[in-house]
Amino acid sequence: MSRSQPSLTLVRGDITEQDVDAVVNAANSSLLGGGGVDGAIHRRGGPAILAACRDLRASHYGKGLATGQSVATTAGELPARHVIHTVGPVYSPREDRSGLLASCYRTALGVAREIGARTVAFPAVSTGIYGWPMDDGARIAIRTVAEAATAEAFDEIRFVLFDVDAYTAFQEALDARG
Ligand code: ADP
Repeated sequence: MSRSQPSLTLVRGDITEQDVDAVVNAANSSLLGGGGVDGAIHRRGGPAILAACRDLRASHYGKGLATGQSVATTAGELPARHVIHTVGPVYSPREDRSGLLASCYRTALGVAREIGARTVAFPAVSTGIYGWPMDDGARIAIRTVAEAATAEAFDEIRFVLFDVDAYTAFQEALDARG
């Protein structure tokens, strides 16, 4: 018997503009900012997010956040209420790191659930600067979220895709699941 699921939706757009309970940041383990999604979130969200990340580094995350793990902060001036930072793996053609990429989606949903975020927006983690092939990244994202997100905890899980190729890859991955 299939479990009841929240709606999995796809939009083309910018993660920083999503009016949801929590947006997920494709962060790096320093938690102190970077390019891509990370840069956009800190730019648009203002200094409160970086201040919260520095506090995390000064307390529980002295060595930074491990790959595949997630942690929440304020969303500062973003429309969202929380940012959930997750650290994607760098793609490697020699080593299968897909378990770590799946872990990003799973742990981010776990954190969302703990903070009561019922609508969550994800970017395509690891598919930018970290080099993960989009089709494979999309399949891992859709499969993991479909398995981990229950309707009892979430209303909507939204994937926010920056360009048409990303959107098409996620659409195909979603269609393939039926
Ligand atoms: P990573 O370092 O995990 O690869 P990036 O931020 O470089 O993360 O890229 C992740 C994905 O997010 C890429 O597909 C990139 O095109 C996309 N992206 C970049 N900026 C935004 C944004 N503002 N909103 C949504 N997606 C974005």
